[in-house]
Amino acid sequence: MLYQKEIPLRIETDVFVAGGGPAGVAAAVAAARNGCSVFLAEGGGCFGGMGTASLIPLFVTMTDGVSLVAAGFCQEIMERMLDQGCMGSWYDVRIRPEVLKRIYDDVVTEAGVDYAFFTQVVDAVSQDGKIQHVILHGKSGFYAAKAKIYIDCTGDGDLAAMAGAQYEKGDANGIMQPGTLCSLWAGIDWDTAVEMDHLGQLDQAFRDGVFTVQDRSIPGIFRSVGFMGNGSFGHAFGMDGTDERSLTKAMVNMRRIIPEYERYYKTYLKGYEKMELVATGSLMGVRETRRILCDYRLGLEDFVNRAVFEEDEIGRYCYPVDMHPADAGKEAYEASERMFRRDYRYKEGETYGIPYRILTPVGLDNLLVAGRCVGCDRYMFASIRVMPACFITGQAAGTAAAMTKDSGDVRRIDPRLLRRKLRSAGAYLPKYASDDRED
Ligand SMILES: Cc1cc2nc3c(=O)[nH]c(=O)nc-3n(C[C@H](O)[C@H](O)[C@H](O)COP(=O)(O)OP(=O)(O)OC[C@H]3O[C@@H](n4cnc5c(N)ncnc54)[C@H](O)[C@@H]3O)c2cc1C
Repeated sequence: MLYQKEIPLRIETDVFVAGGGPAGVAAAVAAARNGCSVFLAEGGGCFGGMGTASLIPLFVTMTDGVSLVAAGFCQEIMERMLDQGCMGSWYDVRIRPEVLKRIYDDVVTEAGVDYAFFTQVVDAVSQDGKIQHVILHGKSGFYAAKAKIYIDCTGDGDLAAMAGAQYEKGDANGIMQPGTLCSLWAGIDWDTAVEMDHLGQLDQAFRDGVFTVQDRSIPGIFRSVGFMGNGSFGHAFGMDGTDERSLTKAMVNMRRIIPEYERYYKTYLKGYEKMELVATGSLMGVRETRRILCDYRLGLEDFVNRAVFEEDEIGRYCYPVDMHPADAGKEAYEASERMFRRDYRYKEGETYGIPYRILTPVGLDNLLVAGRCVGCDRYMFASIRVMPACFITGQAAGTAAAMTKDSGDVRRIDPRLLRRKLRSAGAYLPKYASDDRED
């Protein structure tokens, strides 16, 4: 079927950002603070992506144990959260979704970013390696936006894929990490409940037939405030977060199995007896989808080597390789635990470098990617997908977009100047202090 339609060009801007999760917010704010007009299109009804709409429990580590590595924009958001009564430290900051939504609204608005919720990026028109327009859809219908530089922060690499970028998805067979529908709980007696001690009774519960799927991988319920906790348990195995049918099936199935976890916590663990489900995420928690092919593919060897990228490093990070098992089998669970807890976990003070080239998709001149869909292999993906790292790549992408808007070419950039700008905005790049002296 051919469907043609003339649509209005409603947005003309320096920088267009697709998706308002941690990467998108960081990118949009950084671009605006560096003097650009910015339009940010968010498909849902709030900023924050997984961290708000999917009810993810916490921001994982911002420190390598010695230094604050997710500094800059990430630090700013965490400080606002702590100021507004969220619990935590630089090792983890607990999410109160409604507090975090307001913080993002404020920070994006204060930066002067133009934005619209309920606005889906549905297509891109590209020619000769450049995106000409993106096509948006909202309640008012279809319209187009035109920018000098585009940044894909959809998590799934939607815009890059629509613009013709190459990508990888999952392992050699296309199998991806499972999703999880996170949940918000009230009525937990945190004086009695022990947060991370939820696995001890699991075998008994398996024997008692509490669960339809015997899945040993349970991150748990994390205290957020008062008697509240954020739950991350249950896996949507075999789900594809780029397929709405698959997402639909996963949502329904996850909502169906959450009462099994409720029964487990209430019956087998102390302090959870009176817990009550408040909400499940309005977005499915999607761990893994597209990894866009970029000028560099950050790989496991870079994790192992604590890689340094003298030429174009834009940040450093340290989270272990956290690859959730692809099925509920014991073998897959043990392999995932080995990677996360033993094989690919750094000692204090160790980090890997993040090069600018993982933000530049092969074959496209005016597109950057940031957040979950950057150029990397599956192992590195399982580290860099977490939110502090998404802030790092988002802030770098927004800053780089501001530096390249006049040329319209994301490769025409002096990486040292980018680094200098990032350093002056608080980013952790101590090795490159000498950049500041060069002119
Ligand atoms: C179950 C689960 C638990 C996790 N736990 C943690 C944790 O404890 N700590 C941690 O730091 N990280 C955790 N993560 C990882 C982390 O939440 C995500 O990887 C991270 O949020 C990715 O950020 P992002 O900005 O790239 O994308 P997202 O957070 O996915 O945000 C993307 C945004 O883009 C919007 N969007 C998508 N497509 C379009 C489109 N076509 N048009 C317009 N808008 C669009 C979405 O609505 C969304 O708001 C977890 C992830 C999952 C799934």
